[in-house]
Amino acid sequence: MPEHHTPLIATIAAGLALAYAFGLLAHRLRIQPLAGYVLAGVVVSPSTPGFSTDSALAGELAEIGVILLMFGVGLHFSLRDLMAVARMVVPGALVQIVVATLMGAGLGHLLGWSWTAGLVFGLALSVASTVVMVRAFQERHMLDTERGRFAVGWLVVEDLVTILTLVMLPTIAMMATDGAVPPGRLAFQLLVTLVKVGIFVTGMLLVGRRVIPWLMHYTAHTGSRELFRLAVYALAIGVAFGAAKLFDVSFALGAFFAGVVMGESTLSQQATEEALPLRDAFAVLFFVSVGMLLNPEVIVDAPLALAATVVIIVGVKAAVSWAIVRTFKLGDPAALAVAAGRAQIGEFSFVLIGLGLELGMVPPLARDLVLGGAIISIVLNPLVFALLVKRMQPESAPFASGEQVIAAPTPAQQPRHDVLIGYGRVGSLVGAALRRSGAELVVIETNEDGLEKARRDGAEVFVGNAADPEILAQANLAAARRLFVTIPEAFEAGQVVEQARAINPLLEILARAHSDAAVEHLERLGANLVVLGEREIAERMLERADTAPA
Ligand code: AMP
Repeated sequence: MPEHHTPLIATIAAGLALAYAFGLLAHRLRIQPLAGYVLAGVVVSPSTPGFSTDSALAGELAEIGVILLMFGVGLHFSLRDLMAVARMVVPGALVQIVVATLMGAGLGHLLGWSWTAGLVFGLALSVASTVVMVRAFQERHMLDTERGRFAVGWLVVEDLVTILTLVMLPTIAMMATDGAVPPGRLAFQLLVTLVKVGIFVTGMLLVGRRVIPWLMHYTAHTGSRELFRLAVYALAIGVAFGAAKLFDVSFALGAFFAGVVMGESTLSQQATEEALPLRDAFAVLFFVSVGMLLNPEVIVDAPLALAATVVIIVGVKAAVSWAIVRTFKLGDPAALAVAAGRAQIGEFSFVLIGLGLELGMVPPLARDLVLGGAIISIVLNPLVFALLVKRMQPESAPFASGEQVIAAPTPAQQPRHDVLIGYGRVGSLVGAALRRSGAELVVIETNEDGLEKARRDGAEVFVGNAADPEILAQANLAAARRLFVTIPEAFEAGQVVEQARAINPLLEILARAHSDAAVEHLERLGANLVVLGEREIAERMLERADTAPA
């Protein structure tokens, strides 16, 4: 048999298979699967014995994850959103970067490094990972809320700062070694980069905004789903790559803007969202690739420095971000969410410190500290979120000026109330009718429009992902009469039904489904009635069409 040299396939196969195995194991042990993915990376990393894969390839695969993820975020982001938060996120992100950088530089100084080395190290600690933050927000259905948009805006600013730093770092390195470089050169480089980014952004907004949605509609009209999906991937990855090669924009930012312009029409937004199933698999590879970078020696060689690094990343950054958001007079929920989102570092930091090392600006220990700090902070991040976001729930009330909701401080206490999950197309019809019939109604919803509508209909409202036990607990299911699960996603609906059945064996549970498998799944978990949307549609059509045999 000929010898095959297929490092790409080996990396994908080992990465996905081990991530799956360790993710499953983590789930069994009731830890976040994310920790399992990182551990999978440690196992296949070249620095641990046994089987190893190519970490450069894994890094590139992870980039595809970043591209698809940011593209998806962009889809839900309009330019208006971006403008609305810009006033606050620009100064906010900048102040946070400065404070974290100075802290990092201070630590570097204590370790006996030069100030330049300390500043590069500090900068690497100051920027958070897109993937980690976006996934954490997505999981909690917070990306589409105002605090989600705020956090994403902050991310965009950080990304821009990173781009500028990366461009200027080589010149700064030259200036540090021999002072002969004229300072005007730095200003010139800054200007050139800003102009390039500006050209890219305006180009996307003026040309891309017309061409891309048109292309999507044109493709949709061919009636070929395959071509449509291809269009999505080609545009997302193509624009990101082009942005990076031609305009010095990062992949993440390029993909984000491609998403923003493609999301201009809600139709293409939805269709495109459906065409992105590969995104999650690649995002998992991101965590594997992070694990692969671990150099375990740093834990033994410099435990104190590593601990201090983690304190800066998790403690200082979170506290500073929290304080900044508070000064904008946004509520605690927003401040805590942003703080939790910032309490980690990832891909940008690797790039920054990698370049610093290449230019001889930082010692190898700085890189090891950044990598170790990243892995620890990423694995800790779900805990940080759980800690801070828990505090956020009881106060799910006003974000800025009445953005959010109204939630009673105590769990719903009406005797024999009805609970409704989701207040969209299905839930709002059910809810309005229930209210008309005089029922006491408790609604759990993630999305602001739905929440607002439910409140107007006179329901008691709780914000959050209903599949989360802590959110669901607020509906006081033990005392409820009926539960209506009107969310379309079968896994989440299943989690709600399962918990509800465990809490209250007598509760009448009615659920929505979109496939025979989902019907079976929900019935098995304890739903009394599962309505298959598609079947109801068929029946209504047949009701109208006369199908009696002639
Ligand atoms: P529709 O498909 O139009 O009936 O909308 C479904 C509604 O359910 C949307 O408004 C979503 O925001 C909401 N929703 C989806 N998943 C969840 C969840 N896990 N928890 C709470 N609300 C949800």
